[in-house]
Amino acid sequence: MCIFCEIVKGEKSCHKIYEDDLTLAFLNIKQTCEGMTVVIPKSHYKNMFDCPPDIYDAVVKTAVKVSKHYKSLGYDGISILSNNGNTPVGTGQSIAHLHFQIFPRDSKKPFVLINQTPNLERDFNAEQKKFAL
Ligand SMILES: [Zn+2]
Repeated sequence: MCIFCEIVKGEKSCHKIYEDDLTLAFLNIKQTCEGMTVVIPKSHYKNMFDCPPDIYDAVVKTAVKVSKHYKSLGYDGISILSNNGNTPVGTGQSIAHLHFQIFPRDSKKPFVLINQTPNLERDFNAEQKKFAL
């Protein structure tokens, strides 16, 4: 079972931001900026190529909902990344479970796309309180 499916089943913890019947959003433990968030379908699909359109639409809908919420918190905007295929090399898709990364953007801070190691010094509980929907 993949790590995102373990999170959906509650076998691994996460700092949840939002959840509905089909999707889950949580803070990325390898985040490169405050509020960097992963949005996934609750069911396992490797990427957009094997995901049914209605499930993919639900993931997009949640990404938009979370992004609008972050904009309302005062961020200048957001960036979204979704790598699809050839896990773990090639496209850069690190986990073979469809996901979007949402980066709240603050124009006063430098932007870093990828961080390969967990960012353990961050206070994820405080961030969860700030960002949760
Ligand atoms: Zn999975």
